[in-house]
Parts: sequence; structure tokens; C-alpha cells
Amino acid sequence: MAKYTPMIEQYLKVKEGAKDAFLFFRLGDFYEMFFEDAIQASRELEITLTARDGGVEDKIPMCGVPYHSAESYIHRLIEKGYKVAICEQVEDPAEAKGIVRREIVRVITPGTVMEGKTIGDKANNYLLCVTELSGVMGVSACDLSTGELYVTSAPSSYEWLRDEIGLYTPAEIIGDSSLLEWVQSTANPVGRPVVYTPWDKSKEDLARKQFTEAVWIRLEEQRRHNVGLLVAYLSETQKRSLGQLTRITAYEPNHYMILDPFTRRNLELVETVRERSKKGSLLWLLDRTETSMGARLLRRWIDKPLLQRSRIEDRLEAVEHLHAGYILREDLRERLSEIYDLERLVGRIAFSSANGRDMIALKKSLRQIPALKELCSGSSSATLQRIAEELDRCEDLSDAIDAAIADEPPVSVRDGGLIKAGYHEHLDSLREAGMNGKRWIAELESAERQATGIKSLKIGYNKVFGYYIEITKSNLASLPEGRYERKQTLANAERYVTPELKEKEALILEAEEKMVDLEFALFSELRERLSQEIPRLQRLAEKVAEIDVYRSMAEISSEGNFVKPVLTDGYDLVIEQGRHPVVESVMDGTGFIANGTYLRKDEAGILLITGPNMAGKSTYMRQVALIVIMAQIGCFVPAVTAEIPMIDRIFTRIGAADDLIGGQSTFMVEMADIQLMTEKATKRSLIIIDELGRGTSTTEGMSIAQAVIEYVHDHIGCKALVSTHFHELAYLETSLKSLKNYSMAVQESGEKVHFLRKLIPGAASTSYGIYCARLAGLPGSIIERAYGLLQGLEEAAPLVTAAKASDSGARESAQMTLREASAVMTSSPAAAAVLTEESKASLKLETNKP
Ligand code: ADP
Repeated sequence: MAKYTPMIEQYLKVKEGAKDAFLFFRLGDFYEMFFEDAIQASRELEITLTARDGGVEDKIPMCGVPYHSAESYIHRLIEKGYKVAICEQVEDPAEAKGIVRREIVRVITPGTVMEGKTIGDKANNYLLCVTELSGVMGVSACDLSTGELYVTSAPSSYEWLRDEIGLYTPAEIIGDSSLLEWVQSTANPVGRPVVYTPWDKSKEDLARKQFTEAVWIRLEEQRRHNVGLLVAYLSETQKRSLGQLTRITAYEPNHYMILDPFTRRNLELVETVRERSKKGSLLWLLDRTETSMGARLLRRWIDKPLLQRSRIEDRLEAVEHLHAGYILREDLRERLSEIYDLERLVGRIAFSSANGRDMIALKKSLRQIPALKELCSGSSSATLQRIAEELDRCEDLSDAIDAAIADEPPVSVRDGGLIKAGYHEHLDSLREAGMNGKRWIAELESAERQATGIKSLKIGYNKVFGYYIEITKSNLASLPEGRYERKQTLANAERYVTPELKEKEALILEAEEKMVDLEFALFSELRERLSQEIPRLQRLAEKVAEIDVYRSMAEISSEGNFVKPVLTDGYDLVIEQGRHPVVESVMDGTGFIANGTYLRKDEAGILLITGPNMAGKSTYMRQVALIVIMAQIGCFVPAVTAEIPMIDRIFTRIGAADDLIGGQSTFMVEMADIQLMTEKATKRSLIIIDELGRGTSTTEGMSIAQAVIEYVHDHIGCKALVSTHFHELAYLETSLKSLKNYSMAVQESGEKVHFLRKLIPGAASTSYGIYCARLAGLPGSIIERAYGLLQGLEEAAPLVTAAKASDSGARESAQMTLREASAVMTSSPAAAAVLTEESKASLKLETNKP
């Protein structure tokens, strides 16, 4: 029976250990793939599929990529959600008996990428581990490139698990297979391809060794189990020291505001719903950071708004000082802009992949710290002063790099040119020897020119022949016979050597080889020394990031005309002239109509908002949520004043264009969200429901809407903003004590409807749907027919109008026109509170328009 060749046998054995990855099998200057891997990789990477003899009858499919350009191929595979196992020759082919030994040296997976384009600077790249043990679920998240590791746990709940996963948008999830199955089968909360690896090979001792005892014993058992699994996976895939993992940040889920993945998406916190781009999100607006770690920290803050008032107030205190201190802000910006990505530099140092340029980047960054420290300690902010105290100048480290590493080192660490003159005596003497040799060659060149009279005679060097004397064909006649030894003939020149030249060449090359080796050794020594300082550098990076975020929040607060919110532990949520920060900013700061929010205990906990499509209802509701979130991350808010209670959770039910997730109907998604809300909301929550009750028949939808509103009012008692196109629901104001009707004002002139985008008390009566249809360009005949039908229906069944239900008595007519809006201003105190001076002015402005 035919057998595979020893090499293929070896391949198959190695492949056993990497069944779920592409195996990049090193053969000389190539990584080769075989069998199924080759077929699939050739397709994914668009490279040629060939075949080779493997000892058996059929040829074996094969494809390969050059060793030196492998990185880009690897990252293309990772980006497509695959894993890549790198198999290297682990012994010198010259010394190998039989076939060279080969081993997998690292498995690169989407959650463990350390370098390259795959991981953006401004976002973390997380590997998640999910576990369940005795009724408790655990989640840990690790960014290997920065060395961050977070862990938390909670009584088993799939919703909790989903929310926690959604927080990290991981690239890869490992852990209990049953949990992974659940995550995979329900709508993927992450919204990007995720790689799942069932993983239960805990080696707790590995994790124990990874961290100091002090770090380890502070963890609860469930969390230890989880982190144990994670570290075992990292160690199995990375097969090297994980020096950047020094700390574990354990946190309690109830210390942060809960935002489920759908709410996070609906509010466009870090990316927009439609394009899934950062541009247009809250993060995009707020991000004025100068450093990558600052950008990542800001994102983490937006992901996890705080619940403890004192912690938020510490942040606000720093923002306030920087908001007032333009010069300090600018000085800090200047310093921060010179600081590179310390966290990832540290990651590369730990992985021994940092090169000379990384060292220079680290040095330049560290050189900024003393000035940064001084700026912070000189500020009047207590928060900044505290950070200043904790800032480690790290001058010993920057000095060490400065002494050793050349100012402009090459990319490679194996070709010399890395180490400064004067750093190491022996290196200097080798350099001297090399220089002398080269000087000798230069002298030989001019001496030979003179002796032969050939002006164009030159001495060159190449890797194959070494040093040679080159004479062009036209000058050959002048060369005395037998002066040199002929070595190589080119088209228009001859190349020669002399015994003396060869002798010098040997000396020069030997010195160079030694020099390169010594430089590498010295470089590695320094890198090793720095790797001992990783915890220090990580703490430093964390502080720098914090300063950067405060500065960034202060800058946008100043630019956007935001104000410091007043935080309370009470119930009332009161915002004077609030604005939607992102919508306002894309309107260039002009034309956005501010609206107040008055949610007060026993007075108005629920606002029922009616108004036509396009009137601005959902913008308004999102604006309230965003203001709350901004306040709870410690940022100023777009308003004139804001009193913000600590909101423990925001639920949103906002009909997005892409509701059809996992094949569920819009209506089912809505009902599932509402079920969750009824179960989880507390008095301290904020509920936002846009267009409650659509997706089923009018009567049914309206009944459900009413029942839900009553439930929120009677049983939950939390704050809620509800918009509906069922104007009939306005009568609820009479039966529900803390529900108030509001609507978005519109102005009608003739056939036209003008949106005033002003929230006013009382309900609207018609949705102007047909008007919107006309705006959208539907054919005139359809529009006319629709008006006709509507009239028929209205005559048959007059709607319950707001006027009947509202107790304000401000309006007789159901339609809110500008004239009536002005009447509200003068007759209703509640309305007057809403329509402040500025908005009155804006209303007047609207009237003046033709
Ligand atoms: P609705 O939810 O009532 O259908 P939207 O909130 O989607 O309406 O608003 C429609 C458009 O009106 C938005 O795209 C936005 O550009 C604009 N808009 C909303 N609110 C305001 C405002 N307060 N000031 C100015 N423009 C606004």
C-alpha cells in the first residue's frame, strides 16, 4: 500500500493539533497549505492551487504564500473569521537528522490578533470567555494587544449574558458549548462575524502563575474558573509568555447602567444603525482624544455609564476645570499628541515583537510625561491633581532607551543599525574594524585608478561575489594583463578580485556579522529589561488615557455649548432646552430646536407624545436618553440646565429599519422587548418606546399600547417617553395620574404643513401621514384618493380628540397650529414652562417665514 512521504506524514500529525485552523506549514521560504486547507485557502485568498507528489497515487492539493509577505494573507483570513496556525521549522536544517522538526508556534485567532490592520487603533479587540457554574454565569473579556482583562459574573440569566457580550463586540467567544450555542442561535448581539470555540480545558494553575497571588485571591471562585479557562486558551494558542497580562479588572454588573445591545444600537452610541460606521454616532461626536488609548477608554466609558454619583462627580470635576481652562487644555493637547499607543507598545514588548522604532516611540511618549505631570498637578482640579500624583515619570526607562537605541532605527532588528555609538565598547570596536576595512577599500579604489589610469574603475559589493573591482569593456584595453583575477563577465563590464581584497572582505564581513548579532543581543536585552516594567507602563497608559478623555470631553463640551449636569439620587429628570448632540452637530449648530423635558415624581413620569411623522418625536426621545448617558459618563450635556437622577437602565423600543433579525417579525421583536422591559425595569429606569403598538391591527395595537402604558404607570413607576400614532390614547391622561400628553407642534398654511419641532403640552390629532406621502413624491392620484378615503372614514367614526381628553382646556381644536401654540403659551403655565423665551423666539421666527 502506498504511504505518504515523511514530510506529508509530519504535516498530517501537526494538522491534528490545529483542526479548526488553516495550517501554515513552513517549507523553506514559503508557508504551504495542503489538502482541504489548500483548496479553501486558494479560494479565500485567490492564490493558485497546485498539487504535489505525496507518495500516494493522487497528487496532494497544495498552495502557498511567501514567508516574507505572509502577514497580509494571515490577516485576510483572520478578518474573514478564520484561525491560522503557524508551523515553523524548530531546528536547524543543517543539524537535523532526517526530516526537520516542525511545530506550531502560535495560533492566530480573531480574538488574539496582536498586530496589523485587523485591529483598529481606536477600538479594542476582545476575546470573550463565557461560563456557567452552579447557577452563576461568568464573562471575561481580554484584549491581548493591550493587556486588558475584565471579568464579571451574575446569577444565570441569558439576557444578562447577551447584554454583557453586546458590551464588548468581541471578535471571538470561547467557553461552555451550551452558552455558545445559545449565543449563536439567538440573534447575534454583536453584529459582526464572531468565531466561537467551545472550550472547557481549564488549567487554573496556568492562570494562577500568570498573575500575582494578590491579584488572584481577590477573585471569586466562579470568576477564577472563567479566567482560568481564558488563560488556558491563550496559552494554548499563543504558546509564549503573556507578559502583558498582569492585571484583572473584576467588576460588578450593577455598578454600571445596563444598556442592552438593541438600545445601544438604537441610540447609535458607538456606531450608526444604517452604515454601522462610527461617523454619526455619539462616540464620533465626543471623541476629541489625541491618543489611541484615550479613544479606547472613551469608548469603554460610553459602553458603561456609571451609577455611583460620587464617581461621576469626580469625572465632571476634571471636565469642568478643563472646560474653563482653555490654555491648560491646549497645553495638554500638545503633550498628548506626542504620545503613541503605549498599551499596544507594551503588548509588543511582552510578545518580544517590538522593534527599534517601537522603542523610539516609547521613548518619545515617555518624554512627555514629566510635563504632563506638571500640568496636571498645577491645575486646580482635584481629580487631575490625584492623577498627577499617580503619574510615574518613567525617566529611568526613557533614559535607558535613549542611551541604547539610535534615533532613527531600521524596521528590522536583525540587520544592525539599531544601537547608538558609545553604548557598548565591543560593538564600537567592531564598528571601527568594519569602518577601517571600508576605508582600506576606498583607498584601494583610488590607488588602482591611479595605477591603471582607468578613471571609471570602481569597487563594488554584492551578496553573491562579495567585493569586486569593476572595469567597463571600453577600458579593458588599458588594463595590464594579469593584474587581477577575473571573476564575472557582464554585458559591458568585467569584474575582478585580488587575494588582498578577498582577505579584507573576510574581515569586514566577519565584523559585520558579529556586529549585527551583538546589536540584536543588546536590543533584546533592553527589550527584556522593559518587559520587567510592564505593570508600571500599563498603569501609566491608563492615567494618560484618563487625562486624554477628560480633555476631550471638555473640548467638545466647550465647542458644543454643553453644560455641567446636576446629578441627584432622586427621581426627577429635568432638562431645560435640551438638544440632540449629534443631530445638532450635523446641522452645523444652527436651526436645531431645543426642547425641555420635565419628568417629575407624581406629576409626570410618562410623556405620551403624538405628532405627525417627521415631526421630531424620535429625535426628541433619543436626545433625552443621550443626555442621561452623557451625564452618567461624566460629560457635560447639550442643554441650558439639566438635573439628572441616576438612571439604572435605559430600555428602548425604537422601530429601526432593519428590525428583521433572526427571522422574527417586527411585531414579535417589539413584544419580546416589551416583555423584557416589564420584567427588568425598576423605578430608576428610563423607558423609551417609539410608535408603540404598530405591526398589528389598529384596534389590537391600540389595546396593547394602552395595557403596556398602564402597566408601566401602575406597576413599574419608572420614567417613560412613549410616542404613538394612536391619538386616541390621549384620553389616558385623565385616568393615569402621572401621564402627560405632549405633541410636536406643526403649522399649517393652506395645504402645507410646517414642522416646528417644538414639543408642546397636549395631544395632536392627526398624523399628516398623507401629507408625508406627498412629500415623499407619491403620485397625485394616490394622494387625492387617500384624502377622499380618509374623509369618509373620519365622518363615519370621529376620533377621540385631544381636546376632549386634555384637562388643560387650552385648546378646542384638535389640530395644533401656530396660532394655537401661541395661545398655549399665554394660557397654560405648564406650556409656558416648556416654551421658554428662546423657543418663543424660534416660533416667531418660523411665523415670519413665507
Ligand atoms: P419622527 O420620529 O416624529 O418621525 P424624527 O425625530 O425622525 O421624526 O425627525 C425627523 C427629522 O426632523 C430628523 O431627521 C431631524 O433632522 C429633524 N429634527 C428632529 N428634531 C429636530 C429639532 N428639534 N430641531 C431641528 N430639526 C429636527
